[in-house]
Amino acid sequence: MSVGVIIVAAGRGARMGASEPKQLLDLGGRTMVRRSVQAFDAHASVSRIVVVLPVELVSAGASVVGPTTRPCAVVGGGDRRQDSVRCGLAALPADVDLVLVHDAARPFADAALIDRVIAGARETGAAVPAVQARDTVKRVDRDGAIVLATLPREEIWLAQTPQGFRRGVLDAAVALGARGVDATDEAMLAEQAGHPVTVVAGDERNIKITTLEDLAEARRRLAPGPRVGCGYDVHRLESGRALVLAGVTVPSERGPLGHSDADVVCHALADAVFGAAAAGDIGQHFPDTDARWKGASGLDLLGRAVAIARERGWRVSGADVTVLLERPKLAPHAPEMRRRLAGALDLAMDQVSVKAKTNEGMDAVGRGEAIAAHAVVVLVARVEP
Ligand code: MG
Repeated sequence: MSVGVIIVAAGRGARMGASEPKQLLDLGGRTMVRRSVQAFDAHASVSRIVVVLPVELVSAGASVVGPTTRPCAVVGGGDRRQDSVRCGLAALPADVDLVLVHDAARPFADAALIDRVIAGARETGAAVPAVQARDTVKRVDRDGAIVLATLPREEIWLAQTPQGFRRGVLDAAVALGARGVDATDEAMLAEQAGHPVTVVAGDERNIKITTLEDLAEARRRLAPGPRVGCGYDVHRLESGRALVLAGVTVPSERGPLGHSDADVVCHALADAVFGAAAAGDIGQHFPDTDARWKGASGLDLLGRAVAIARERGWRVSGADVTVLLERPKLAPHAPEMRRRLAGALDLAMDQVSVKAKTNEGMDAVGRGEAIAAHAVVVLVARVEP
């Protein structure tokens, strides 16, 4: 049997309230419709693809759909879903004898799901993937106020796509739809045309993106995993210099020498932020040869580093710093340091840690001639609907 797929992407996304049709919204670097097309283009059994777009997008169809390895036709859709499927079916060559109908708003259909639907449709003529309802299902009157009945949950299945049909069955279903029967999917028309429709296992991950919350959930799923960055800074200590750590001036006989406030905590953290974003380092973004950064506050530079990472699609989700210093003791100042860092990193205080250690009298830090800091930062993708 030759398998073709009709990908229905003819909606205008009115329910989503976005400025462009939802099938053209970006999902992790590819549009929803491209993801749906590629899922079938990559499937070994599928030999033909038809994408049904809103008529105004058909002239740009090839660029909307993107490259495919299988022959792919783009046609304009109709007012109702079933009209769009009829337009798509007309564009499938006659040698296609098993037809899948898929909603482009389900970009997570995988090969195993497509296999199950093809197998079910081959066997019985019509197959829908479905998942069993987990919630208790109520039938409610049209005003939405009064429960009319509680339906037996074990009999309630939620239908997904792709739905699969032998061509003759889909022809009969589409003909019924053309005669005026309204349906929310092709399986319903096939049922009404008198064909048995079998259920195959659906996939909980095969969500339909209908609302902005669905879109955000899909983007979270596709977002890159967390990134970690480490940073280090060291400065020589001199008498008469202020000791500024995380923006807090700590009473001390000596402070770090530097052309800025030489805040090792903020400098190490800024480098950790840049490192996690693979965005260079503090010297590259704030060179000490540039007068703009002379005397710059470390806390301000850290805020700028966070803003640069944000522009690249990241936000900070946690930070940890270890300061190496012989004296004075930093513990009394740690809460205020954490509070200021939380402000610069856009975190809650309990997501920021500051620890201090002496160097047990060893090397320059141990002799009180230097201060150093190590920092680790975790960045996570910013996901916005
Ligand atoms: Mg420094």
